[in-house]
Amino acid sequence: MGCDGANADSTSVGSESAKNPGSGSRNNDGTGNGADCRVARRSVGVGEAACVTSIGRRPAGGAGRYAPSPTGDLHCGNLRTAILAALWAAQDGADFMVRIDDLEGVRKDFDARQLHDLSLIGLTWNDNVMYQSRRRAQHRAAVEYLREKGLLFECYCSRKDIRDAVQAPHGLSGEQLYPGTCVNLSEFQRAKRRAELAEQGRRPALRLRPHVEQWTVHDQLFGDVTDTIDYCVIQRGDGLPAYNLAVVVDDDAQGVSQVVRGDDLLHSSPAQAYIAYELGISPVEYIHVPLVVNDRGQRLAKRDGAITLPQLAARGIDAHDVLVWIAYSIGVRLPKDLAAPVDSTRVVPIAGSAEHTVNDPGNDCGAGAHTDSIGSNSATTKGGNSKNMVTHGSSSNRDAHVSTGGACAGERELVEINQEVIDYMIAHWDRSSLSRQAVVFSADMRL
Ligand code: GLU
Repeated sequence: MGCDGANADSTSVGSESAKNPGSGSRNNDGTGNGADCRVARRSVGVGEAACVTSIGRRPAGGAGRYAPSPTGDLHCGNLRTAILAALWAAQDGADFMVRIDDLEGVRKDFDARQLHDLSLIGLTWNDNVMYQSRRRAQHRAAVEYLREKGLLFECYCSRKDIRDAVQAPHGLSGEQLYPGTCVNLSEFQRAKRRAELAEQGRRPALRLRPHVEQWTVHDQLFGDVTDTIDYCVIQRGDGLPAYNLAVVVDDDAQGVSQVVRGDDLLHSSPAQAYIAYELGISPVEYIHVPLVVNDRGQRLAKRDGAITLPQLAARGIDAHDVLVWIAYSIGVRLPKDLAAPVDSTRVVPIAGSAEHTVNDPGNDCGAGAHTDSIGSNSATTKGGNSKNMVTHGSSSNRDAHVSTGGACAGERELVEINQEVIDYMIAHWDRSSLSRQAVVFSADMRL
C-alpha cells in the first residue's frame, strides 16, 4: 500500500520466507526475500546486531500489545480491540504491553484518560507504558541504518506535488502511490532541490527505496495479504519518523511478537513487515480484528454520541456494563455473578471534562484524577497523587503495572470485578469463533 501518511497504520507477517522470495524483486540481487532474521542476515548481509538484539529482547512467550494514538477517549470499539489483544496474549502465555503512539503529540490529556479507561475495563499490562515520542534516538538510529544500507533517498515533493502528479501509479489496494519524482535524481539535481527547499525553510523527507515491489504477510483472520511496497516516507520533512517506521522499531523494543489491532490497518501490514525485514527484525504474528460499527454500518465516530466510557457513564452505563457487552460480543457467556450489573455509583469520572459525570458525589474520584502514565524511560505521574496503584492477582498479566491511580473505593471495586471478568474471558474465550464480521454497537448495548 502507499504509506505516505505519517500516521498511517500497521502490520502483519507470518512466515514470509515462503511467500516473499522472488516476489517482484526490484533489483534482482537476491535481497528483499524471506523474512526471518536468519535469511535477512545471510542474503542482505546486514543487520546482524539488530537481529540478535531483536531476538534477545523478546520475552520467551513473546508479547502482545495495544497501542492507541492519544487523540481522543477510547470508544467501545477501541476497548474491544484492546481486550482482544490482551486475551490473545494471555492465552498464548505472552506478555501484554501498552504503548502510547504520540508521535504527533498528545491532545489534551488523552494519554492519561486512555490509560485510565484501559485500567477501568480491567486490563493490566506488563512493564512501563512506552511513549513513542520519547524514542526519537532509536527511531533516528533505525533511519540511519536504512540509509547506510542504501535504502533511503531524499524527497523534495510537497503533499500537493504528489497529489497533483498526473501519472501517479496505483497500488494493489487501489491507493495512489508515490509518482517517483525524486527516485532517480542526480547529485547535482539533489543539491539544487535541497537548496530550493532550504530557501522555503523546509527540509527533504526520506523515502524508502524498496528492493521488492510486493510483500505478503499472513493474518490469522484474513489469511495472506499481499500489497505493493511503495516508496514510503520513513522520515518526514519535519524530521519526525514516519509512523510505519516507528511502529516497527517500537514493537521490536517492546518484545512484541503478535499484533492484534483493528482491520482498518490490515493493508499497512505488508509495508511495515517489509521495513521490519530490512531492519533485521523478526516477523510478528498479525491478527486484524473486525471494527465495531454503528447501526448504519459505519465505524464508530464522535457523531455517534455515547460511545466512550465517560459518555456512557453519563447515561448510567458503567465500565462493567461495557465489559459485559464486549464479552458477549466475542461469544463469551459470563456466569450470572460476573455479568450482574454493578452498583451504578461506581461509575468513574475523570476530572476536568464536562463530559465526565461524577455519579458518586461522596467521593473524590474526580479530584485531580490522573493516571500514572509510566513512560518507557522514566516514571511520569500526571497530575495529583500517585497512591492506589492497583495490582492484581491471578492471570498472566497480573504482575503488571496498572494505572488506576487516584482510584476511589468504588472505582477499585469496579476494576477488581472487571479483572475477574477478564480472567474468566481468558479461560473461556474460544478465539476460533472470532469472525471477520463487524460488530454493531448501539447505545442500548444490545448485540
Ligand atoms: N496507534 C494506531 C491507532 O491508534 C494503532 C497502531 C497499531 O496498532 O499498530 O490507530
